[in-house]
Amino acid sequence: MTHELRLDPLTREWVAIVADRQGRPNLAPDPTGPDGCPFCVGGLEAPEPYTVRAFENRWPPFAPGAPIDADGALAGATGFVSLPARGASEVVLYSPDHAGSLATLGVAGARAVVDLWAERTAALLERPEIEHVLVFENRGALVGATIPHPHGQIYGFPFVPPVPRREAEVAAAHGCPVCAAIAREVADGARVVRDADGWATVVPFASAYPYGALLAPHAHDDGLPALAAKSRDGLAAALVDLVSRYDRLFDGELPYLMWVHQGVHVHVHFAPPLRAPGTPRFVASGEVGSGTFGNPVAPEAAAAALRAV
Ligand SMILES: [Zn+2]
Ligand SMILES: [Zn+2]
Ligand SMILES: [Zn+2]
Repeated sequence: MTHELRLDPLTREWVAIVADRQGRPNLAPDPTGPDGCPFCVGGLEAPEPYTVRAFENRWPPFAPGAPIDADGALAGATGFVSLPARGASEVVLYSPDHAGSLATLGVAGARAVVDLWAERTAALLERPEIEHVLVFENRGALVGATIPHPHGQIYGFPFVPPVPRREAEVAAAHGCPVCAAIAREVADGARVVRDADGWATVVPFASAYPYGALLAPHAHDDGLPALAAKSRDGLAAALVDLVSRYDRLFDGELPYLMWVHQGVHVHVHFAPPLRAPGTPRFVASGEVGSGTFGNPVAPEAAAAALRAV
């Protein structure tokens, strides 16, 4: 079993090597659940009735333990460097309804999920080994979700990972890019899907993903715990609205990657892996090798299609 952070000497970025995760279930739910699902009430991970629920991942890439000094190790790094993969890996159950999703939870149901995200974010940031919290969801077998029951995950990282770090660096150099982007998008209108309850949903001007979306509050709140009750309702409504539009536009449950960025100005990214119903958009060599994405769907066309449903 190999379970550690290793520093890539070419990029000086951390890679989590979690070879023991090969033993995790692959679309084979635990048979002790009521209908074979470990997340249904009475199942392995949800023995008692619940509305929403968070618990530690059985196959954690990041696990609790003494703090590590990732930045210090990086600063002095020569040769091969590895550290224990400290942090947190949690699963968040959105609903006891096996067939539900963010589209069907309703605003009150989604608000309960938002509240749990905020509560877990605050609790994890209290732990000395955690520097950054990423809330995320992989929806659909196409993006590797092993259990269809509506759920997401949370990672607590022992360092600030490259994508949110890059956004924080842009903010430090140029001012808050989320405030600026939302103001520009709302003024322009061509890529706005919805603007209500203090939250804007847009297909970003330079979206890297076909039908990719950005949800952000007009108010400059740094993270989920900072959101007032009204703004949490606004986020819940925006989530239900967008996922419902996705499912109508694609005539079924659209698979997606979703993640919440916290630390500068809280916002949510959605990245579906399809370019049209039934047609995957592959991220291939030219993109992985260069770090520059090509998007085959114009953001204005994607936004118009999402507005129309
Ligand atoms: Zn279930
Ligand atoms: Zn801002
Ligand atoms: Zn972001």
